[in-house]
Amino acid sequence: ESQLNPNYNFVNFVEGDSNRLARSAGMAVANKPGGTSFNPLLIYGGVGLGKTHLAHAIGVEIKDKYPDKTVLYISSEKFTQQFIDSVKSNTRNDFIHFYQMIDVLIIDDVQFLSGKAGTQDVFFHIFNHLHQNGKQVILTSDKAPVDMQDIEQRLLSRFKWGLSAELQAPDYETRVSILQNKLYRDGVEMPEEIVEYIAKNIKSNVRELEGVIISMIAQASFNRKEFTIELAKQIVDKFVKNTKKELSIDYIQKVVSKYFDMDVATLQSKTRKRHIVQARQLAMYFAKRMTKSSLASIGSQIGKRDHATVLHACKTVDNLTETDKQFKKYVEDLTKKLTL
Ligand code: ADP
Ligand code: MG
Repeated sequence: ESQLNPNYNFVNFVEGDSNRLARSAGMAVANKPGGTSFNPLLIYGGVGLGKTHLAHAIGVEIKDKYPDKTVLYISSEKFTQQFIDSVKSNTRNDFIHFYQMIDVLIIDDVQFLSGKAGTQDVFFHIFNHLHQNGKQVILTSDKAPVDMQDIEQRLLSRFKWGLSAELQAPDYETRVSILQNKLYRDGVEMPEEIVEYIAKNIKSNVRELEGVIISMIAQASFNRKEFTIELAKQIVDKFVKNTKKELSIDYIQKVVSKYFDMDVATLQSKTRKRHIVQARQLAMYFAKRMTKSSLASIGSQIGKRDHATVLHACKTVDNLTETDKQFKKYVEDLTKKLTL
């Protein structure tokens, strides 16, 4: 099972200035997997800009051209989980062997390997084996290798061996094409001025462009309405507001304490009771992940701690997420609560 999504293909991936380099590098790799200097091919860029789509498209194209090659798509979270499970069940060698047999390995969102030393180590060995044997590795990340944190130097240097290609936010014309392409595929007609209105107002995320179209179609059919510019305005406003909403540290503390059924004062208190310490560390972790505040500022707002305490909290959460299923669930639940 390649885990590839056939709907994420090159035909559906609208070309524009913002993605031309990454797209053509992806095409080159698909034509000659393992046979170009683009190995690994690392696609990086912000949320919703098409990294996952393009990574699948390369895999789908390779499967089409070379049906005998084994292609595997996997998220780095799932890869990490599989590795941890293999350690627990004493099947680490089977895990490594499985990955070393693959012709084209696609790992999505490698930034999630950050801080996970064990997984990085095993990936390093798999990577070397594949690369030495002329197999293709394709990676995606939300950052360029130079900006990645808590990834081992030797792995980072491997990431830089091939080509790093950025997916940028699409320009206006590309946004219009993406919208038109989506409408065409859904068999929906929409007045040009509405398409242009959406393209003018949603700028930095293709997923949101699609989201507006999906909401428009749902609203219009549900209320038996026409596609009007007013409806477009309402929906676009909602999307813009949601994106702009920067979470505050206060809000994060409230959500975390409520989740653990305690009040904010308890979360901030000096106690060393384990569940309270964990709640506090989670609040610090989410404050670091979801706000632009410095470690020092996060510390001072969460019970007057210093920046080293916050840094330690973030590392602890990363480690526990990797080793403790229950804790991982906390992080997942809270991520949902904070972002929905
Ligand atoms: P990322 O992995 O970078 O967060 P995704 O690959 O999940 O982004 O893309 C988000 C959505 O936008 C997907 O539905 C994808 O099909 C669509 N998309 C992104 N870029 C393009 C593009 N150039 N043409 C068509 N659809 C795109
Ligand atoms: Mg993605």
